[in-house]
Amino acid sequence: MYSSVFQKILDILYPRFCYVCKKPLNETQNFYLCFSCWRKIPLIRHEACLQCGMPVGKGIETTKVCLVCQKEKFAFSQARCAGEYNDSLRELLLSFKFHGITQLRFPLGALLYWKIKNTPFPQKPQIIVPVPMSYSSQIQRGYNQAVLLAENLSHRLKIPCFPHLLEKIKTTKPQSELQRQERKKNLVSCFRIEGDYYKKQCKDKIVLLVDDILTTGNTASECSKVLTQAGAQKVYVATVARTLNF
Ligand SMILES: [Zn+2]
Ligand SMILES: [Zn+2]
Repeated sequence: MYSSVFQKILDILYPRFCYVCKKPLNETQNFYLCFSCWRKIPLIRHEACLQCGMPVGKGIETTKVCLVCQKEKFAFSQARCAGEYNDSLRELLLSFKFHGITQLRFPLGALLYWKIKNTPFPQKPQIIVPVPMSYSSQIQRGYNQAVLLAENLSHRLKIPCFPHLLEKIKTTKPQSELQRQERKKNLVSCFRIEGDYYKKQCKDKIVLLVDDILTTGNTASECSKVLTQAGAQKVYVATVARTLNF
């Protein structure tokens, strides 16, 4: 009761707003979204390709992989994506990534956690590693959204996180500006693991690679390749969102 009175006073002094629709939040809405925007998050609840996380439509068997994954070989073994990159989830991720609203790591971390609990990986991951940004991009943005998500998830799952295990050593063009074939080339020799300490951390481990969004799977696959070359036993991928085209 005291906490709700306290929250009411706080709400008068410092009104809180939903990060998606900008409407004021009342004291029962403790998170960063109003109930209506929470409900509108396009979650991927059931049928999705086991390898790349793409929703495959109701009733389709999910012990198999989608048509793309039957041809494409990714270096990670399975991916889980919490929702479709649409509507309120797209708004949230854009605010998180480009508008400096880093507190969104809490609700977005909650979505990642929900997905992994709801559709567990066959084996429990032993370490969490975020997809890195290049040094200059990170300086420009001030933070790496994948690190914030990975740390939040690490806290929830009680699995250690190594935010600097992977490094991105080249600044690349945004994948979204490139054609499908160019996207693969764009990432070649982009990532590395430097130093014996980090190599030792991933040796023989089941690694969970975390990012905000999975599009073609090329970035996650390239990172997974480097992790596997350093001795990781297996790489799983978890992202908040999945685009619905490759
Ligand atoms: Zn709202
Ligand atoms: Zn697939």
